[in-house]
Amino acid sequence: MSTLPKRKGVNPYGTRPLAGITHTVCHHTTGPNSLTAHSIAAYQTGPDSPIAYPAIAYHRLVLEDGTIVAAPSLRTLTWHCGSGSVSSHLDDQGHFVGSNNWHSVGIAFCGENPTPAQIIGMRVAAEDIDRELGVTLERTPHRVISRGLTECPGNNWYDWWSNIL
Ligand SMILES: [Zn+2]
Repeated sequence: MSTLPKRKGVNPYGTRPLAGITHTVCHHTTGPNSLTAHSIAAYQTGPDSPIAYPAIAYHRLVLEDGTIVAAPSLRTLTWHCGSGSVSSHLDDQGHFVGSNNWHSVGIAFCGENPTPAQIIGMRVAAEDIDRELGVTLERTPHRVISRGLTECPGNNWYDWWSNIL
């Protein structure tokens, strides 16, 4: 969304072919459920973010009332699973390297734990993406695809996860 804040003086995200996308990764933003797309973009592109995101990292954001906000296009290679565009793979020793950004889209709800409306919104956002791409992507929590490197989407994710599938 062009009205959201962007980081000045850095290259924008790259793009990737839609055909390589296989997963929808589900995130939380942490913080209060009342956060807005603008406030999250301002944080991620501001001086306090540990990663110098060029723009908001999530392709879709689900607000407290379940409203879905579309941010970068699905072609945009955002950094929602770490800060890189190298596709994930196993190295010679069988270690997981790279990021999952290349082959996934990122959807997030505002907050630490989702409201009932956000649980519905996350499912609808994932369904909309499948419809847009004409495929059924695998839905995965960030912590699962990133092999435990993050607690995202929250410590209570298992309570609501089945409702977005
Ligand atoms: Zn995440």
